Amino acid sequence: MTALLDDPLDAAAMLRAGALVAFATETVYGLGADARNAHAVAGIFEAKGRPHFNPLICHFATAEAAWAEVRPDARALALAEAFWPGPLTLVLPRRADCRIDLLAGAGLDTLAVRVPAHEGALALLRAADTPIAAPSANRSGRVSPTTSAHVMEELSGRIAAVLEGGECEVGVESTVLDLAAGGAALLRPGGIPVEAIEAIIGAVGRSLKLSDAAPPTLRSPGMMLSHYAPSLPLRLDAAEVAADEALLAFGPPLPGAGRVFQLSETGDLREAASRLFAGLRMLDQPGLRGIAAMPVPGEGLGAAIRDRLSRAGAPRTASNSG
Ligand code: AMP
Ligand code: MG
Repeated sequence: MTALLDDPLDAAAMLRAGALVAFATETVYGLGADARNAHAVAGIFEAKGRPHFNPLICHFATAEAAWAEVRPDARALALAEAFWPGPLTLVLPRRADCRIDLLAGAGLDTLAVRVPAHEGALALLRAADTPIAAPSANRSGRVSPTTSAHVMEELSGRIAAVLEGGECEVGVESTVLDLAAGGAALLRPGGIPVEAIEAIIGAVGRSLKLSDAAPPTLRSPGMMLSHYAPSLPLRLDAAEVAADEALLAFGPPLPGAGRVFQLSETGDLREAASRLFAGLRMLDQPGLRGIAAMPVPGEGLGAAIRDRLSRAGAPRTASNSG
């Protein structure tokens, strides 16, 4: 049963305990999890039925709380001053001591952060006293919900609770601006017009992410800018492993690997998803020839795990090292 809550304190307690709670922001309803809790974040992808792991936006009660996890430059500080709380998401480099779970950022060195302009969301963030990772609170491939009733239609029975927050004012997603690579690139148009951003920081590149904008023929796995790939070659569905290979184990490990990371001893897909990026990073060290990944079943979260492993194993091109 999915509870409909009125009190942000109740919703915060559930989030702190690792449960999934949908909540209103000024843009759309988000499906929230404690962004520092890997198991909770994996649950977001499970509840949405997402076939791949894309990076989630992390929500904060204040800009200062965001700056504890990512490194703002002068432009980010000026934009936060102008538009936060509000529908602007900034992609910035993670700090070395960033406490946000790797899966929330899809394993990337950058993180998308924002402070929402909605009293209920801010009350929830303050009470939970932790950043909240949240994509839109709909099943994968469906439109974003702007009322609690929409969220119930989409996710009832799949999440712990929805915090009632009325109808969303903006109704479209936040503008996503990438400041991490030195330039400024619009990744998604949204609630804050790009012209308003340019009035503060100057020209913004309009080329949308290849994964959104490229024609299908260009949309090969390696063309997605937002994907983390290890530098060692990776092979899937390994049935045996060599001494000069690293093993990404799922269930009882194959014998003989040079290094082993266990995704889930018991074959639990949610545990495996929550450990996937940590595992790839741990195994991706010099000295070995490659990574052998044991078979992971393709149902449920396993589809997203397999999708990410096949991207990680795809032949390298100049554009897919990100
Ligand atoms: P949603 O969470 O569904 O509102 O979508 C988040 C949007 O921000 C998607 O378009 C993501 O691809 C984008 N995004 C989030 N984090 C990053 C990141 N670290 N780098 C690039 N794009 C990101
Ligand atoms: Mg969405």
